[in-house]
Amino acid sequence: MKYALVTGSSRGIGRAVALKLAQDGFPVIVNCLSNIDAAASLVAEIDAAGGKAELLQFDVSDPEAIEAALESWAQAHPEDYVDILVNNAGIRRDNLMIFMQNDEWHSVLDTTLNGFFYLTRRLLKDMLTHRHGRVINISSLSGLKGLPGQVNYSAAKAALIGATRALSQEVAQRKVTVNAVCPGFIESDMTAGLDRDELKKLVPMRRFGRADEVADLVAFLASDSAAYITGQAISINGGLY
Ligand code: NAP
Repeated sequence: MKYALVTGSSRGIGRAVALKLAQDGFPVIVNCLSNIDAAASLVAEIDAAGGKAELLQFDVSDPEAIEAALESWAQAHPEDYVDILVNNAGIRRDNLMIFMQNDEWHSVLDTTLNGFFYLTRRLLKDMLTHRHGRVINISSLSGLKGLPGQVNYSAAKAALIGATRALSQEVAQRKVTVNAVCPGFIESDMTAGLDRDELKKLVPMRRFGRADEVADLVAFLASDSAAYITGQAISINGGLY
């Protein structure tokens, strides 16, 4: 069976993506860092709706934890593989560059960029062997234009776009596509502390996006209809650049 793995799917965009992929008929692996209860309730919700889901907790920035979790998953699933990987887990630790601490820099890059590297490298082999796969990386508007106060986050998200474009060319012949999705302001815990009323004024559509709108785009990229789209960074931002 072909599984979809969505990192950071206990909340926000990842949760909406996992739900949508489950509705589209894919068995889903739900992942989180520490919010096990939220992730478990998503698994229960998908099961109750007639879908198939399981929980695999690991820290995407920890290569040993990834290896241990995926090795035990593979042992329990000898006939299955991950065909759709959504690298969604991300954090922001905003600060002006002049005040930025090493930990603020490293934690953001470790989660977004190193997490992409460890996990994708681990799962790519199966996709190449099966001559089919989808890697969808959740980047950001910050990775395209850079945002002040987010030098760490912008660097990580821009690097993710570069990695997307490079990897897409390495694996295209094997029918594995690699794309990035670049959301603008989306309603989630990540943006809960921001002044939404002020920020909305910057958006031509005058509103934040919803996680389910991002999920629809990700689900399209995961589908057979998107087989000829690869190496792209696709914005979903209400017209904000
Ligand atoms: P969120 O609501 O803060 O959720 C973050 C998710 O990532 C949670 O499920 C969290 O798990 C998980 N996570 C964090 N660090 C992790 C780690 N080391 N290992 C495994 N899981 C980890 O964020 P969101 O707004 O949905 O954002 C999702 C993605 O979209 C991120 O990559 C973000 O940068 C990107 N994005 C968001 C926006 C926006 O406006 N919201 C805009 C552009 C891009 P726990 O629940 O266990 O903590």
